[in-house]
Parts: sequence; structure tokens; C-alpha cells
Amino acid sequence: RTVLRLEKVTRQYAQADQPLVILKEADFAMNAGETVALVAPSGAGKSTLLHVAGLLERAEEGDVFLRGEPCGGLSDARRTAMRRSDIGFVYQFHHLLPEFTAAENIMMPQMIAGLKQPQAQERAEQLLDYMRIGHRGHHRPAELSGGEQQRVAIARAVANAPSILLADEPTGNLDPETAGYVFEALEALVRQSGLAALIATHNHEIANRMDRRVTLQDGRVVDY
Ligand code: ADP
Ligand code: ADP
Repeated sequence: RTVLRLEKVTRQYAQADQPLVILKEADFAMNAGETVALVAPSGAGKSTLLHVAGLLERAEEGDVFLRGEPCGGLSDARRTAMRRSDIGFVYQFHHLLPEFTAAENIMMPQMIAGLKQPQAQERAEQLLDYMRIGHRGHHRPAELSGGEQQRVAIARAVANAPSILLADEPTGNLDPETAGYVFEALEALVRQSGLAALIATHNHEIANRMDRRVTLQDGRVVDY
């Protein structure tokens, strides 16, 4: 079952002379439960691809289909609603809210989605356990190690049970050993929940553990 599909997506940035073309008629599809590594040099367009796939940016040409629904013609409000319910994001830096605890950071998107506090808290605690930091829920981000902060960010990204996880160098700021452990927890969570995950990484060890690896070549997404 295809959960995410890009069809002939072109994305370019305006420049003084000619536009900088990042994606050029790029096709890509990902099935439920599939993990895909996106491996390409810096500046190749990995973040751009993730932003277009995640409905944060619009393509100039082509379209993005979320569970079969074409998203290009939708209003910003509708795209935001789809993004909130269906897509989780993880970045290289955790972007947790510093004045809230780990558990509260994970509860936040759930409460915005309308869940009651006790249910959100129960789910946050489950996810913290799942990420193997059940004992850290009451700590603020500054009291957590880098690896723990990323575990919380991952838990927050999946708090509303999206069908797609998009991650941009989720372990890029961690030492190799910590990166391995955090990825292990991420992978277990993805497999257990049947999420489709597209993960940009420079770490080949991590890339090799995913179902499929893709790169960007002349603006297209190609297997490698
Ligand atoms: P990667 O994630 O692979 O490092 P990016 O998608 O961030 O690559 O960027 C691809 C290219 O597009 C880079 O050359 C970058 O400088 C350029 N770029 C990214 N965002 C913008 C923007 N908003 N305006 C203009 N150029 C941009
Ligand atoms: P790492 O080597 O993984 O970066 P740290 O040296 O940052 O780990 O922290 C080691 C342990 O101490 C971690 O479990 C972390 O959560 C905890 N810790 C770090 N700083 C604080 C703090 N200010 N308050 C409470 N616990 C902390």
C-alpha cells in the first residue's frame, strides 16, 4: 500500500540569473511499513525533498500524493491539517520546548489535536518507555543528554500516530555510538507501528539497515 508518492515533482529556487533547480521531475513512492534511507551529499536537496514530501513546501510542477490524495491543489490550511495528522518530522536538532518536560513536549501535539490530558500523558509515557527513557519524562530538555533529547523528539514526532515519518539527519549531531542506539530505538518504533519512514542520513551503517536506499541525481530520486 503506497502511503506517499511524488509524481514528476520539480522544485526550484529563484536566483538573479536562472533558477536553481533542486528537484526535476522527481518520482518517488513509499509503502506502509517501509524504511527508506535518503543518502546524498550536502546541498544535493535532501531537505528540499523532505519539505516537499511533508507538505511544508509546494512543488512548482508535479504533485505529492498522501495516501492517494493529490495535495498540490489543496489550501494551506488543509495541507497543514494533513501534515499534523499524517506526518511526523524529526530534525538534526531536537527543537524541543525548553520550558516543558520531556513528557509535556510529547503531550503537546496530542493536546493540540484535541486529546484530553490523561490520555496524552499515558501515550507520552508509553512512548518514553518505548524509546527506553521512561525514567526521564519529568526532565526538561537541558537536563537530558543529546541522545535522550533526540529520543524525545522522535517520540513527539510519532505522538499523533502519523502514517509517515520524515527525518532529516536525526542522528547527525550525535557521536557514532549514541547515534547507533538512538537509531535502534527509532527503528524499533517504526517497525512496531507500521510507519513508513524516509530518513536522510550520512551514516552508511544506519542507511544499510533500512529496506531501501535512494539518492538524488540530476534532480531525480534514484535507487542506489
Ligand atoms: P541538503 O539537505 O541535501 O543539504 P537542501 O535541500 O538543504 O540540501 O538544499 C539544496 C540546495 O538548495 C542548496 O544549494 C541550497 O543552498 C539551496 N536552497 C535551499 N533552500 C533554499 C531557499 N529557501 N532559497 C534558495 N536556495 C535554497
Ligand atoms: P552523553 O554522554 O550521552 O551526552 P551527558 O554527559 O550529557 O550524556 O549526561 C549523562 C547522563 O546525565 C544522562 O543520562 C543525562 O540525561 C544526565 N544529565 C545530564 N545533565 C543533567 C542535568 N542537568 N540534570 C539531570 N540529569 C542530567
